[in-house]
Amino acid sequence: MSASDYDCIVVGAGIQGSFTAYHLAKNNEKTLLLEQFLLPHSRGSSHGQTRIIRKAYEQDFYTHMMDDSYELWSQLETEANVQLYRRTGLLVMGKEDGPDFESFKGTLLRSGVPNEILDPAQFAQRFPDVRQIEGDGALVDKTAGILYADRALRAVQSVFQRLGGVIRDGEKVVDIRPGFPVTVTTSSAVYRARSLVLTAGPWVNKLLSHTGLQLPLQVEKINVCYWREKVPGTYGVGSEFPCFIRVKSHGAAHDIYGLPSNEYPGLMKVCYHGGSETDPDERDQQSSQEDIKILSRFLARCFPGLLSTPAVVESCLYTVTPDSHFVLDRHPTYGNIVIGAGFSGHGFKFGPVVGKVLCELSLGKMPSHDLSPFRIQRFQSHPKSSL
Ligand SMILES: Cc1cc2nc3c(=O)[nH]c(=O)nc-3n(C[C@H](O)[C@H](O)[C@H](O)COP(=O)(O)OP(=O)(O)OC[C@H]3O[C@@H](n4cnc5c(N)ncnc54)[C@H](O)[C@@H]3O)c2cc1C
Repeated sequence: MSASDYDCIVVGAGIQGSFTAYHLAKNNEKTLLLEQFLLPHSRGSSHGQTRIIRKAYEQDFYTHMMDDSYELWSQLETEANVQLYRRTGLLVMGKEDGPDFESFKGTLLRSGVPNEILDPAQFAQRFPDVRQIEGDGALVDKTAGILYADRALRAVQSVFQRLGGVIRDGEKVVDIRPGFPVTVTTSSAVYRARSLVLTAGPWVNKLLSHTGLQLPLQVEKINVCYWREKVPGTYGVGSEFPCFIRVKSHGAAHDIYGLPSNEYPGLMKVCYHGGSETDPDERDQQSSQEDIKILSRFLARCFPGLLSTPAVVESCLYTVTPDSHFVLDRHPTYGNIVIGAGFSGHGFKFGPVVGKVLCELSLGKMPSHDLSPFRIQRFQSHPKSSL
């Protein structure tokens, strides 16, 4: 083995690539994690202070994966000796007899996730600063909370390095030659490895073009909006206000979600779960305000304690599949190339378990979870895919 040969190369040091590299290093694999930008950076999908973690999902398979993920998050907290999770609970609101709300409720009840179902009187008493929309149901996932995202990324990368893993940042992968070994060329070096994992977020199709594969992914620019509380603390840390999701209904195309005031004192983060299509290298040329108008209307109606113009707007990218489910699979032509992509704006909380299954695929082990919802083959007849 020469100096630039590795057991495995992982491309992309966002949350998914960092956790994949961490699991590979735990399996004693000589692992290289490549990142195009100098770390830390805010050009992909994993930056920022906070993400929601929850077991409440519309599909049972995600709820089951989260059992594993919570344990792995807690393991990382111990290994890195840092707090990554704060429990707040998650309030789910949606049209009571609508299919989306029903699915959330069904999954929580079937999986025995600690929860509360609130009738309108209980809701009004518990959340006096939220106006419930008539006809809405409400429930609370008591396991949910906030993940400290930037801190988590730093923690997983530093444990990976402590385990002997190598991170090379500021090195963009510019070519991939499939084969045994697979050859990866960056802006400054050439590396070879037995296997390759691509976790390049919004850039994954650009890399896959070297392998003759294109996935039907849409990259979206998301406005990350923070709204000022009229009375500081109303929806903040001290008020024990939970995270929330208002599932789409009443004609809205996407969910709206929020997190109690955390990163900016007196500002609550509330975002629309959809954005405008973009190219990850051209995103700054684009600024759609449609989502902000939807959020302003929603907040004026339901959160009277917030001003309905955002005080801070940041940006982040989603990489969305046609069914909003992830891609966790081997390359259909090259079995030693593994792909983790299309996290569709909800992948952060799964980082530890995504890393675990991508590591298992790369080592040729049986994955710990059923990966059938995440196969590439499901896009076979999609007009935007080339498999
Ligand atoms: C506004 C917003 C809110 C969200 N909220 C939540 C939430 O509450 N809960 C939740 O679970 N999830 C949430 N998500 C989703 C979650 O953050 C993403 O699913 C997750 O971060 C995706 O991680 P990733 O590693 O796939 O991608 P990224 O973080 O984008 O990482 C990919 C990396 O690959 C690198 N790369 C790309 N091309 C190359 C190359 N050629 N050479 C070298 N490196 C390369 C990129 O620079 C990047 O660092 C949210 C996302 C956004 C944008």
